[in-house]
Amino acid sequence: MSSLTFTSQRSERKSYGLPKPVPAYFPTSKKSILIPNFELYDAIKQAPRGLVATHEVPIRSGKAWKASKGSIVRISTPEGPQVCDFNCWEANSGFKEHMWASRTRQLHSSHVSVYDKLWSNLPYLRPLVTIIDDTLADYGPDEHGGRVYDLLGTRCDPYVDKLLSGEDVDFHCHSNLYRAIREFGGEEENVHDVLNIFQSTGLNEHGQYFMETCPAKAGDYFEFFCEVDLICAISACPGGDLSNWGWGEGAEDPEGRNAGDMTSVCRPLKVEVFELNDSATVLAKWKSPEPVKYKGNHGITK
Ligand SMILES: [Zn+2]
Repeated sequence: MSSLTFTSQRSERKSYGLPKPVPAYFPTSKKSILIPNFELYDAIKQAPRGLVATHEVPIRSGKAWKASKGSIVRISTPEGPQVCDFNCWEANSGFKEHMWASRTRQLHSSHVSVYDKLWSNLPYLRPLVTIIDDTLADYGPDEHGGRVYDLLGTRCDPYVDKLLSGEDVDFHCHSNLYRAIREFGGEEENVHDVLNIFQSTGLNEHGQYFMETCPAKAGDYFEFFCEVDLICAISACPGGDLSNWGWGEGAEDPEGRNAGDMTSVCRPLKVEVFELNDSATVLAKWKSPEPVKYKGNHGITK
């Protein structure tokens, strides 16, 4: 154990003769709520659609937009690798119902892809979106265990940067997301733990979170179906493709790997919102999900 990895970061495994644990939320039958309707989501992905909105998101900035239930959102990297921090809220909840990264991580996995859903917080707990396409679906796990579309970490923010570097730096995903949602009445505390789109991450042998250079190429995209009316927000991470990131603007890490200005590795993002040409047919068997109807001594069901 070095002086930089201590008690909680031990890497030596100990054997207690335990059986291999099963995933805690593994579906127990084909009727499980965790088994998606593959035919439905394949049909949605393939059905003719029309573009209803496009948002170009410049480097190091954020953007919020509305998307109706039944619509499709595509987020892409038009010019090459760029990490994208994503938040979403049910549009009629006053920012109360939002994506719940940790429960989604338990219900699916630490990193998500096609057919996974992004679930909402309590007292709602319903799918807000279902992922229907992902051009990086075949990436990973890489030689270090890295996978893309990360639910392990969260957004970069100026508070942790100040804590670690001592600098006041205003280019962070948290700040971009907050500035973006003000357009719809959102407050700073409405920004929540993110889905890191196009970002490769994992836990090393010490259980420590790591980030790798974004593997996306120009034209890669991530696409989801909106299960409810949504307000979405993204930040084009000011760390860019994360090939040259560090705390503080232009700071160097102790090993001198972070040399200078991160803008050289920042690229724009693009958002497109589509509607199905014939939603009545394609979505005939689909119903916008409702919150879980828990009827115990609290919750929202009367
Ligand atoms: Zn960021």
